Formats: sequence, C-alpha cells, structure tokens
Amino acid sequence: MQDYLIRAVTVEGHIRGLACVSTRLVHEICHRHGTAPTASAALGRALTGGVLFGALLKSHQRVAMKFEGNGPLKKILAEADSDGSVRGYVAEPRVDLELKNGKLDVAGALGHAGLLTVAKDLRMKEPYQGIVELYTSEIAEDLAYYLTESEQIPSAVGLGVFVEPDGSVSCAGGFLVQSLPPSSDEMIRKTVRQLEKLPPITELLREGAHPEDLIELIFKEVPYDVLEKRPISPKCSCSRERIEKALLSLGEKELESLAREHEEVDVNCEFCRENYRFSKEDVGNLMERLMSQEKILH
Ligand SMILES: [Zn+2]
Repeated sequence: MQDYLIRAVTVEGHIRGLACVSTRLVHEICHRHGTAPTASAALGRALTGGVLFGALLKSHQRVAMKFEGNGPLKKILAEADSDGSVRGYVAEPRVDLELKNGKLDVAGALGHAGLLTVAKDLRMKEPYQGIVELYTSEIAEDLAYYLTESEQIPSAVGLGVFVEPDGSVSCAGGFLVQSLPPSSDEMIRKTVRQLEKLPPITELLREGAHPEDLIELIFKEVPYDVLEKRPISPKCSCSRERIEKALLSLGEKELESLAREHEEVDVNCEFCRENYRFSKEDVGNLMERLMSQEKILH
C-alpha cells in the first residue's frame, strides 16, 4: 500500500477526522538515519504526527514540532508541509531500551521532564509558536494535549509504529480527531465512546487497516463525508545553495581555517543525511563571495 492521508468531516460539521498510513515514509527515514527500534518508534510517531498536523494547514504553510526530554533520545524533530511532505530526525538514533509491558519504551527514551514546541510558518510576518510541557512522552497524547491546551481545540490523536525484530518498520499510521465550532456535546460524546472502544492502532495497522477503515471505526455512529485523499512522502528542503548560505554565515575567519585545514569539507543535512562536499576551491570561492559582499556593504 502507498502512504496516504484522508480528511473527513461529519455531515453536520461538528467533528473533523484525519487518518493516514505512513509505513513507507517512516521506514525510509528511519533507515536513512539508522535508528534502533525504540528510536524508530519515537521518530515514526513524531513523523506521522507531523503529517497529520501538516494536513491541518493551508497551502504553502509549514509546521515544525520539537520534542525535548530528559531521556537518552534527547530530541525529536519533525517538519511537515501542507502538501504532504515530511522530514525529521532524532538527536540520538542508536537509543534502544528494554521493552516495557511488551512495548517499545518511547516515553522512557524521550524522558518525562521536557517540552513540546510547535512552530508554524503561516506565511505571515511572524511565525506562530506554542509550547507545552510533555504530557505522557508517548507522542500522540502530547500532541493531543498541545492542541487542546495551547490551541484550545479539543482533540484526540492516535499513532502507531510497529518495528519488526530485524529492526525494519512494518507498519505506521495514525489519526487525529477534532471538535469544530460550534461544538456539539452529543457528537463529542459519541466520538469519545468510539475512541474508547478502538483497538490499539498498531494492531489495526498490522491487520492491514487503510486510513478509510480508521475513520470508519471512529465515526461509526455518525454520518460523515470523506473530503480528500492525498499522498504523503518523505521530502527534505535542503539544497547545495542552502548549505552554501550556512557556510557563508560562518564568516571569513572560519572559512579560511576550514580551507587551510581540510582538502574537502563534508556537510551532511541533519534531516535527510544527504552529503554535500566542498573542495578547497569551492570554499575559496565562497570566501571571495563573502569578501565582495562586504565590499558592497562598506
Ligand atoms: Zn536534507
């Protein structure tokens, strides 16, 4: 199955539901970063959460979420566009903990004291930013807590990633359900009742559930319309030009010592691990560019 997301809303417009299967993109990004199983589950949940948050945006908007805790994983980053592309990484990809109650211990890896920061580029003058404390450090509840507390939108989020004994990700996906204004207590009650009955999402995904099946289970008692189906995929926004800009920002002295000490300078994108190589001559050209810019400024 290809990865995709669907967006649905109840016929009377009180509840919005998003659901996605993200197995391929989670597998690919985890593979690129060489994550150990616990780190794969944590990154996979954050990436899937990113996809769901991205689908709430208008076109050309972006969202970035950063989970920082006092556990060995240290930091998880996930960024998504409104068009369904997502990228992300964990600070310590080799983190692997003992199973806890038969499950990968994502909360133990992230740690309990910490913050979730959600930044949105809404194409306005100032980026929007909201910060909450980590709630359970299981990722899904933290995102629901953020939406409910910081954005004041009552929400439920479910995320699942299954990592095989050989370390590969065999399924990933999730859902996001929100109450829309004007809220209906009856609809919220019905939806909550369905959510409480929902089997673990990883179990559903392993049985081959599609996003449509997840929405059907959640909205069982309530008529709804599927508004959209869209592909989702891993995509990074890095480029040689952006890396050059980062090198230029180091300044003349730093560039000079780089050129003096190295035959080649290798820069890896922290999001996608893509390698950008700069020869002594390339670095020299950057220094010349920097000096000519300074001349123009003076
Ligand atoms: Zn990249």
